[in-house]
Amino acid sequence: MIYLDHNATTTIHPLIKEEWLQYESMPLNASSVHSYGQRGRYIVEEARKRLANLVGIGRNNMRDYAITFTASGTEANNLIMNNFLDGEIFISEIEHPSIFEYIHNHDNVHLIKVCADGRLDLDHFEKLISQNTTKRKLVSVMMANNETGVIQPINEVIKIAKKYDAFVHSDAVQAIGKIKLDLQELDLDFISISAHKFGGMQGVGALIAKTKYHLVPQILGGGQEKSLRSGTEHVQAIHAFGKAAELYEQEAKERYEHMNLLRNKLEAVLLDNFKDIKIVGFDVDRLPNTSLIIHQNHDAKSKLIALDLRGVAVSYGSACSSGKVENSRILKAMGVSDADAKSAIRISVGTSNTESEIDRFLEIYGEI
Ligand code: PLP
Repeated sequence: MIYLDHNATTTIHPLIKEEWLQYESMPLNASSVHSYGQRGRYIVEEARKRLANLVGIGRNNMRDYAITFTASGTEANNLIMNNFLDGEIFISEIEHPSIFEYIHNHDNVHLIKVCADGRLDLDHFEKLISQNTTKRKLVSVMMANNETGVIQPINEVIKIAKKYDAFVHSDAVQAIGKIKLDLQELDLDFISISAHKFGGMQGVGALIAKTKYHLVPQILGGGQEKSLRSGTEHVQAIHAFGKAAELYEQEAKERYEHMNLLRNKLEAVLLDNFKDIKIVGFDVDRLPNTSLIIHQNHDAKSKLIALDLRGVAVSYGSACSSGKVENSRILKAMGVSDADAKSAIRISVGTSNTESEIDRFLEIYGEI
C-alpha cells in the first residue's frame, strides 16, 4: 500500500514502537501509590516536560502553562469551547468539526470568513469582533487547515483579538510536528494538539492553557490532571506522545525538507502533465506535506476507489468525517464551485514515504 493520507493519521514512529514494548504489559496507573503507580506518574510527567519543550514553553516557563492530557484533539477543542459558552465565540468557517459543530444551537458562535486562498479574512474578523458586547470573548482559529494545509495568519489574529480583549485559542492538531510552534513567540492563551498526527498513538491529545485562567472540567471523576480532566491516564500512549515530541525536535528540519521535497515533486509533475489541475492554496504558506488537488471533470469518488484498487490511499476532503462523501465545506467557504469541489482529492505525505512511492503514485494517477 502507498499510504498518502498522513493528515488523517500517520504511522507510529519506529523508535516509539520499540519503546512501547517495554511498557506494554505493565499495569501503570499514574494515581496508584505503589512502585508501578510511581513509575506511571514519572512517565506522565516526563512526557509533559517533552511536550512543553516542543511548544517552546521550556522548563523555565512551565509554571505559566498547564498541559492537560485528554483522549483526543477533539476533546481538547471541546474542553475549551465548552468553557466559553457563556461568552461570545469567534471561529473561522474552516475549523475542524470539533470546533465548527458549535455553530448549531449556539447563536453566540460567530463565523469568520476566509478568502479565496484559504486564509482568514482579517478585515471581516475585525468587523465582527469590534461589533460585539462586553461579554467574555474567545477567538478560535486553527493554525493550519487539515484539508488544504493552508497556514493561518495567527500572529495577525492574535493582534486583532487582543485589541478587543479576547482570549485566543488555536487548534494546532495539524500544525504540530510539521511546522515550528513556539508559545514564547505567539501569545496564545490556549492550544489543542493530538499525538497521532506526528508519530504518536491515537487516543491521546492535550489542551495547553495559560495557568492564570481557571477552566471548568467537562469530565468529572477521580480528579486526574489537576481535576481538569478526570479519567485514568493512558500512560503508554502519553509516553509515546512525549517521545513523538522529543523525536520531532531532533528531526524537524530533516522531516520538513523530506516532506516538502516529495510534495513539491508531486505537484510539479501533476501541473506539468495535466492542464486542468489546480492546487488549492498554491501561492500561500502551507504545511510541507499537504496537497489538495482539483482536477476538473474528474470525479474524486471514482478516483479514490480506482486508486485504492491499485494500492494507493488518499483522501476525499477530510478523513475525519470519512464515510460521508459530500462536497468539502472548506472549499465551499473558499468560493470553489461545486463542480470543482467534486473533483478534489487530498494527498498528504508523511516522513515514511519515499520518492519512488511518489513516482509510482504519479504513474498510477496518469493511468487511471
Ligand atoms: N483538529 C484538526 C485540525 C484535525 O485535523 C483533527 C483530526 O484530523 C482534529 C482536530 C481532531 O483530532 P483527534 O483525531 O485527535 O480527535
